[in-house]
Amino acid sequence: MNFLSVYPFNFATDMTIIDTFKHQGLRRKLVDEIKAKGITDQAVLAAIGKIPRHAFMDNAFIEFAYADKAFPIDAGQTISQPYTVAFQSQLLGINKGEKVLEIGTGSGYQTAVLCELGAKVFSIERHKVLADKARNLLQSMGYIPKIHFGDGFKGLPVFAPFDKIIITCGAPEIPVTLFEQLKPGGLMVAPVGEKVQVMKTVLKNAKGEMEITDFNTFRFVPMLGDKVR
Ligand code: SAH
Repeated sequence: MNFLSVYPFNFATDMTIIDTFKHQGLRRKLVDEIKAKGITDQAVLAAIGKIPRHAFMDNAFIEFAYADKAFPIDAGQTISQPYTVAFQSQLLGINKGEKVLEIGTGSGYQTAVLCELGAKVFSIERHKVLADKARNLLQSMGYIPKIHFGDGFKGLPVFAPFDKIIITCGAPEIPVTLFEQLKPGGLMVAPVGEKVQVMKTVLKNAKGEMEITDFNTFRFVPMLGDKVR
């Protein structure tokens, strides 16, 4: 996929996304910033450098699109901070062609990063308005994830098992139903906790047991159970 400069790369819908040299310059600075904060995975840095994050945010926020900050999107939710997206993506260690389940599509930005890393992405969002918007936007960029409107706590048993699972909302505890949908040797990356979340990797070892590693704390919107039409 090539995002041409000052060129509307609209192929599938009537959505037009302009990516100017200014946007590209700001994006290079953002990549330098998250590198300085400790992100080393070259494929992740390249994805952040390539994807027009401003397209995932409302017009009023375009000037903020390349600050390393979370911002409000529709339905009272947020687009995650670029550093957080990069950190979770780096922990996932995606290999091309892997099947990845994402919980919490939100704006679709993290979904785009996963697609750019070569994953076959299945993503679940509980707000219909967000699922529909992200599906259209990602399609217009040439990405082909499967976006499901549904309850992420249930996962997608029909499409399981997955190589990797990423949760992008604060889970009250490690969701066992999702762990069960991992392949042996598979990895889940999940922020776990109520007000503040500890980033955890949960490896499913050959015996099918959990091997948990804790990382830093983050703040996410909560993982909630019911669908919102
Ligand atoms: N990766 C997204 C993050 C969005 S915020 C981005 O960068 O834009 C987290 C999202 O998780 C919200 O959109 C919220 O509606 C969604 N969410 C919360 N609980 C969920 C659940 N049980 N199933 C699916 N989505 C959920």
